[in-house]
Amino acid sequence: MGSVYPAKYSAFGLLRRGLTAQDWPAAWQPQPMRSSYDVVIIGGGVHGLATAYYLATNHGITNVAVLDKSYLGAGGSGRNTAILRSNYISPEGVKFYDRSLTLYENLTADLDFNVMFSRRGHMTLAHSDASLRTMRWRAEVNKVQGVNSEVIGPGEVKKLAPLLDISKQARYPILGALWHPPGGIIRHDAVVWGYARGAAANGIHIHQETEVTCIERTGGRVTGVRTNRGDIATGTVLNATAGWCTLVSDLAGVKLPVQTFPLQAAVTEPVRPFLNTVIVSGTLHVYVSQTDRGELVFGASVDPYTSYSMRGSLEFVEGLATHILELMPALGKVRLMRQWSGLCDMTPDFSPIMGPTPVDGFLVDVGWGTYGFKAGPVSGEAMARCIADGKPPEIISAFGLDRFTAGHLVGEKGAAAVGH
Ligand SMILES: Cc1cc2nc3c(=O)[nH]c(=O)nc-3n(C[C@H](O)[C@H](O)[C@H](O)COP(=O)(O)OP(=O)(O)OC[C@H]3O[C@@H](n4cnc5c(N)ncnc54)[C@H](O)[C@@H]3O)c2cc1C
Repeated sequence: MGSVYPAKYSAFGLLRRGLTAQDWPAAWQPQPMRSSYDVVIIGGGVHGLATAYYLATNHGITNVAVLDKSYLGAGGSGRNTAILRSNYISPEGVKFYDRSLTLYENLTADLDFNVMFSRRGHMTLAHSDASLRTMRWRAEVNKVQGVNSEVIGPGEVKKLAPLLDISKQARYPILGALWHPPGGIIRHDAVVWGYARGAAANGIHIHQETEVTCIERTGGRVTGVRTNRGDIATGTVLNATAGWCTLVSDLAGVKLPVQTFPLQAAVTEPVRPFLNTVIVSGTLHVYVSQTDRGELVFGASVDPYTSYSMRGSLEFVEGLATHILELMPALGKVRLMRQWSGLCDMTPDFSPIMGPTPVDGFLVDVGWGTYGFKAGPVSGEAMARCIADGKPPEIISAFGLDRFTAGHLVGEKGAAAVGH
């Protein structure tokens, strides 16, 4: 379905505005808050905004508000390391994340916003026979789903990333890797702003600095939300608040099996391009990619304690530097420029929780842990369909909240713990 944008971005438009010194119009305009909406989405990250965008473009549902207590992308969506891949371990996970990669592939054209998707391949290193075994398993599950993944030996690893130390003297020798050519990186803030712009152009209202403080219910059904800027009547509320999702679900009286942990990342000064793939070591709890500007972006696994703090720590950079140098000793002189932290909503099986809850009209799209950015498009598409049809589509049927009582967990720990 076509959409109406405020300004078409094009090379010609750029030239014209350059020559006439004309300003670009704002990507989207704030609107006055209505007293009622058909749908209220809590959380202005990639999940909330993508859901709003697909509600409008795929289903024509536009009387929708996205509320964020802070600014768009203030949560994980503006803090992640933007790794995209679909080499998960469960058939449900592989199929789901692969659909997201397909949507990401066309997102620049769909949104008329350059999201800078760089498909450069994703390599997960194996330092033990046990990891190699898990990687063979993942490669087979991927292939059955039509996803390109294979196990490669140290020689091929070295060809793909020449600075990696593949010698036998390394503290954790590299025995092979899971090579996933479709993986890559993207520009996370462009994705957030592209969806916001697309949603707003289709009539969705986006309200920043609007915190939901209460979810009103009557007879087990949602009737509205209270915010710091006034009350809104609505019959449908979507909780897309990731690290804060248990606090928001508590407002509706719904308990979630989720714990919030901080996750840190860091970036170096720019250096000459030398790394054309994403490298992950689960054993060493690190991963690295190089941006188009030349900075090295590093990440790790979550901090070992639950917290809502978004501060960096010295322990993190010490551990990170040690492990990166074990992998690539030649980086000894590169300087770290920044470090930061975000919140991750971890589930027991490392898979998301999506769909209805025991409270009528209260839906969740949460449990995104360290891996939810890559799932933004498919989650938005699926949650929009779930709201429009009143039932979850097949692609998310395995991720319902009821799986924890039914005992049907979708175990993804082996593929999701570090390699976001
Ligand atoms: C350092 C780091 C690296 C990561 N790397 C990757 C990666 O490489 N690849 C990947 O796929 N994933 C990665 N992730 C995970 C990913 O960032 C998240 O899973 C994803 O961004 C979650 O998006 P979201 O839209 O669900 O939530 P968020 O982007 O977290 O947005 C939630 C929003 O809800 C708002 N909110 C909270 N409470 C309220 C309230 N009461 N009222 C109104 N608004 C509220 C917040 O202000 C926030 O903006 C990483 C995360 C971190 C922290």
